[in-house]
Amino acid sequence: MKYVYLFGNGTADGTAKMKNTLGGKGANLAEMNHLGIPVPPGFTITTDVCSHYYNNELKFPDQLEEQLLEALKSTESIMDLRFGDPDNALLVSIRSGARQSMPGMMETVLNVGLTSQTIPGLIKRSGSARFVYDAYRRLIMMYADVVMEKASGLEPKDGNGIRHILETKLDDYKNEKGYTQDTDLSGDDWKKISDVFKNEIELNLNDKFPDDPLEQLWGAIKAVFISWNGERAKNYRKIENIPDEWGTAVNVQTMVFGNMGEDSATGVAFTRNPATGENKFFGEWLINAQGEDVVAGLRTPSPLNEDTKTKETSHLPSLESSMPDIYSELNDIRGTLEKHYADMQDIEFTIQEGKLWMLQTRVGKRNGSAAIKIAVEMAKEGMITKEAGLLRVKPEQLDELLHPMLDSEAEKSAKILTKGLPAGPGGATGRIVFTADDAEEWHKNGERVILVRDETSPEDVHGMHVAEAILTAKGGMTSHAALVARGWGKCCIVGCSDLQINASKKELKIHGELLHEGDKITLNGTTGNIYKGELDLIDADPDTHPEYKELMVWADEKRKLKIRTNAESPDDAEQAIKFGAQGIGLCRTEHMFFDESRILAVRKMIFADNEKDRRNAVMELLPYQKKDFMGILLAMKGKPVTIRLLDPPLHEFMTLDEDQQIELSNSLGIDAEAVKSRIASLHELNPMLGHRGCRLGIAYPEITEMQATAILEATAELIKDGHDVYPEIMIPLVGTSTEYIDQEKIVRRVATSVEHNYKLKLNFLVGTMIELPRACLTADEIAKHAEFFSFGTNDLTQTTFGFSRDDIGTFLPDYLERNILPEDPFQSLDINGVGKLVTMAVDYGRNVNKNIKIGICGEHGGDPASIQFCKENGLDYVSCSPFRVPIARLAAAQAELK
Ligand code: PEP
Ligand code: MG
Repeated sequence: MKYVYLFGNGTADGTAKMKNTLGGKGANLAEMNHLGIPVPPGFTITTDVCSHYYNNELKFPDQLEEQLLEALKSTESIMDLRFGDPDNALLVSIRSGARQSMPGMMETVLNVGLTSQTIPGLIKRSGSARFVYDAYRRLIMMYADVVMEKASGLEPKDGNGIRHILETKLDDYKNEKGYTQDTDLSGDDWKKISDVFKNEIELNLNDKFPDDPLEQLWGAIKAVFISWNGERAKNYRKIENIPDEWGTAVNVQTMVFGNMGEDSATGVAFTRNPATGENKFFGEWLINAQGEDVVAGLRTPSPLNEDTKTKETSHLPSLESSMPDIYSELNDIRGTLEKHYADMQDIEFTIQEGKLWMLQTRVGKRNGSAAIKIAVEMAKEGMITKEAGLLRVKPEQLDELLHPMLDSEAEKSAKILTKGLPAGPGGATGRIVFTADDAEEWHKNGERVILVRDETSPEDVHGMHVAEAILTAKGGMTSHAALVARGWGKCCIVGCSDLQINASKKELKIHGELLHEGDKITLNGTTGNIYKGELDLIDADPDTHPEYKELMVWADEKRKLKIRTNAESPDDAEQAIKFGAQGIGLCRTEHMFFDESRILAVRKMIFADNEKDRRNAVMELLPYQKKDFMGILLAMKGKPVTIRLLDPPLHEFMTLDEDQQIELSNSLGIDAEAVKSRIASLHELNPMLGHRGCRLGIAYPEITEMQATAILEATAELIKDGHDVYPEIMIPLVGTSTEYIDQEKIVRRVATSVEHNYKLKLNFLVGTMIELPRACLTADEIAKHAEFFSFGTNDLTQTTFGFSRDDIGTFLPDYLERNILPEDPFQSLDINGVGKLVTMAVDYGRNVNKNIKIGICGEHGGDPASIQFCKENGLDYVSCSPFRVPIARLAAAQAELK
């Protein structure tokens, strides 16, 4: 079996396609050779060796040694140097390289091959003892840390490992001599330091730093393989879902030095700007420096070219002006690499004594706005197809364009207080308030506020609306706060159990930090981070991004799934249309009931103890509801509008303080005690499983009748005025076909009467939400009657798992931490469980009613993975909050391409 793949001098055993065997770095080093790009020669030890090593009690395969020595010989002959040779020594670097990049998670050893035998010859060749001993002390420190300590399992837990000890010794030496910078040390100093280091190693690790080049080489190779199973790497794999079995490859490569004088340098670059996507060569370089100096930030790197200089860097020399020939060669390589890989590349290079060497190329990471620009421009340049362009942008990356975001630079230096569940993306900053009324009050006085609550209820909506963001201690991704905030595209963090809120004292404690009303905090709703103080925000305006608009057009051409929105006001509806919604998939009607002008009528309705009183109270609401529906139907201009009949538990309308109870008792003419006892009688132990959904309409048919009348009379009047309107009336929380039939009958009866009164034919549908397991299991019975299904996957997830959607925040973090669940099932559909019920319901439904229209309106309707599932299961549409509509459009297009 071939375990070692050579590269160098324009040829290579491997190719870019061999990432699984050679790792990303090794495969690209090979490929660069095929492209005629100068790469320091070397070889890659395959990931198979890593697997063999772990499957065979940390032993290498027998053939490895022979193949490795052979490869070393080839490298030597390309460079005309010998490993361990006293006159002409080859030095090598040993680096990891997994299939998928795991930046900084594994180990590297540089300058391998420096020994007492090879040092004098190198000093002679380089003419600089300082350079050689500087390299030597770096090798000693790296080797002691990575090979002798970490790989041997000797690293102490307290962080006082050998690296720390050696760094302290170096500091002591510098202090003693009065040196402030590394550049103050001479060759002789570094030589002395090297001896001090070697002594310390012997003292602390009971072992000698090896003076044999091959021992160094094997030690370093083993250590890199062992670092695959280091804590850092294991944790990173867990987060990124990288399988443990993949293993890493190891690259052994000729050392080149950027610190050999004024004609040497090192740098990193991107073939296009990774922050803006602009098609400009963008990077940083340092003259007379090693790669780690650029990354470590000890010296300020200079810009690569004149074009990308900023105010801050305008005084620094660019590579373009300092070494024009090399810059031009590098710029050509940039073009070659980008064309070849057809994607933006992140590259590393070193210039040694006037010769350019490429050390790495890989696909460059970029932010959302840059991803869109690069994808669209590359497709237009003909470098990739439109389809590839569509697949290049992660749907979530659009978020950045749709919401104001925190300035990531400001975040780096800010004090993080704690973290919660990221329920509504974007950033927000403002003053803390603890009640919805205070939010309104402060807002009126021109303050920006963040509403902090244990949890929110429909009664808080006015305060939530004026707040910049909402932060709750309880609740999950489909809690009231999360749904409402997302609907408005508002920043929101929920389930943050570290918050100790004392609303009466208007205080908030987070890990001992006491905050008061009016104190400023900042939320990052995309990550869930909460910061003290006010951080800078970057505004969002997708309309100013021409590539975004173009990408959306391409997405619409590709996708077959329709995208609707969850909206309950004409404003939301208009926003959603701007974002490209093709209809409303869910218009919840409960918030309409909370308006001050209506709530009394609602309460009267609940209090009525006979049908006549109840009907009178309910019918007081009719004109309001009619107006609501006219507004929304009109805003949607003939696009379908699914309106759901009243759904929440009745008691939500009955959380009254003393004053409100008195007001109610006065207006109803009953005594306060009776009000209290009625409220008590409405109390339910499990309201989410209690008197809600169609159960309300069944107990109080007047509610259904009133709502159906409002919807259909609004429709009739708009038709009369020449408008095009198309309502779909949706019955919630149905578990049996008989429940559905009961409610449908009322709607149809109302329709007949409206048609008769208005003398016209109404065009509308009646259908149901599918949000209970029993509805899925009996979808065939229900589909005989219903004209459409809309999966309410919030409740369906709640009732399938038996997880309360409002309380999951208390235990979900543990579940995710310990991998009991891969992700929050209220955010991304649980395909194996809840998904099976969906598939079953679609099959059952279509079997008896092949034209039944099927959509989804739970929060999953805006989640890319769930959208893929919806496409595979033949749904007609997905419906999500307005700010997710563009994300859903792109995800639906990608679902067709995958
Ligand atoms: C659902 O349950 O998925 C749904 C959309 O309804 P709600 O969130 O209003 O319960
Ligand atoms: Mg529901």
